[in-house]
Amino acid sequence: MSKPRIAIVGAGLGGIAAALLLRKEGFEATLYEQAPAFSRLGAGIHVGPNVMKIMRRIGLEGAMEAMGSHPDFWYSRNGADAAILSQIPLGDFARKHYGASYLTVHRGDFHQLMVDAVPSGSLHYDKRLTGIEDRGRDVVLRFEDGSVAEADIVIGADGVNSVIREHMLGAEAPRYTGWVAHRAVFSADRLAKYGFKFDQCVKWWSEDRHMMVYYVTEKQDEYYYVTGVPQAEWDMSKAWVQSSQEEMREAFAGYHPMVQALIDACDDITKWPLLERDPLPLWSRGRLVMLGDACHPMKPHMAQGAAMAIEDAAMLARCFSQVGVEDYETAFALYRANRIERASRVQKVSHDNTWLRTNEDPAWVFGYDVFEVPLVEPARV
Ligand code: FAD
Repeated sequence: MSKPRIAIVGAGLGGIAAALLLRKEGFEATLYEQAPAFSRLGAGIHVGPNVMKIMRRIGLEGAMEAMGSHPDFWYSRNGADAAILSQIPLGDFARKHYGASYLTVHRGDFHQLMVDAVPSGSLHYDKRLTGIEDRGRDVVLRFEDGSVAEADIVIGADGVNSVIREHMLGAEAPRYTGWVAHRAVFSADRLAKYGFKFDQCVKWWSEDRHMMVYYVTEKQDEYYYVTGVPQAEWDMSKAWVQSSQEEMREAFAGYHPMVQALIDACDDITKWPLLERDPLPLWSRGRLVMLGDACHPMKPHMAQGAAMAIEDAAMLARCFSQVGVEDYETAFALYRANRIERASRVQKVSHDNTWLRTNEDPAWVFGYDVFEVPLVEPARV
């Protein structure tokens, strides 16, 4: 392959990170995204030091620092009385001990920053992948609009309902976990009248549900909550539905007045199903390889799903750089060998929803440096 043609399907955080990191290693990649454009959807996201080290490599660490809120601590509190269950140091402690900052940001701002870093002409919108033909010597991608693209390598970064996964492993819907997440972003001004001192980053817990709350801007003028609440059924034809303050009051009856204030403060609330898959038997086949939610979707209860997608992207770029794209089978095996254990562990802890409920040491997650970790060899079969 003189100049390998690398196609990335899906321009979510994982796909874009892959394009930017491959570029750093001297490869060019083209992104195909089904959406006609991206909008600033109402959601926040944690960006831990493990991800910030990758943003440093991409060249966006400073822009991220200026964009996000810098919480000093992660608090866990008891839902009924606000008693502190854990207090995990972040801020300067994170910079010193984990090698980068811990931020909470608006997901739309983070994504836009990444999109803006993609060279013009490398990201094609309105390209919904519908067909894949691996011809051995290359791969043909067919899109809903009738257009066709050819590539030497195809990276499936197309999320939980991945078409690439379906091509490799057959049709199988992700599993609804029996849990939903309510999400709301609102101006922090609306909280002034309640007279509480709201935490920068806090998770409120009770037996079977929780609410994670944090600022999403550097100025701390926008606040966000996201819940985990049991709900027996979900109509899988819907990606999300509108929720309401009444539903939230019912779900969090008995929670502390601070939580009731959050519910009072915002009437635009969406509700999302939490979906999972069991670990997949393979992450690549032929010239196709997957990353992120395409191959290990998880409950969001460690706030590490996108982080795992971005770490995957960085490891894949590292393996291509080490092995060369020509020997893609070896590169894919090396990539999987160096990601599967960590991604599966994060999937499991997320499923169990125990992360930072008590004063545990988060160093294995936050201290990880995808560029420095010694590589393990794939197991021989
Ligand atoms: P996605 O973000 O799903 O991107 C896939 C992209 O592929 C999309 O743009 C989609 O339009 C496109 N696509 C799909 N099919 C096609 C097709 N056929 N053709 C072309 N394009 C296609 N993670 C964190 O790290 N921190 C958090 O705080 C956090 N909070 C979360 C809160 C909630 C409620 C949820 C549900 C998730 C949360 N996550 C969090 C997890 C995170 O959102 C996902 O793990 C992450 O978005 C996965 O990234 P991805 O790039 O693999 O997939």
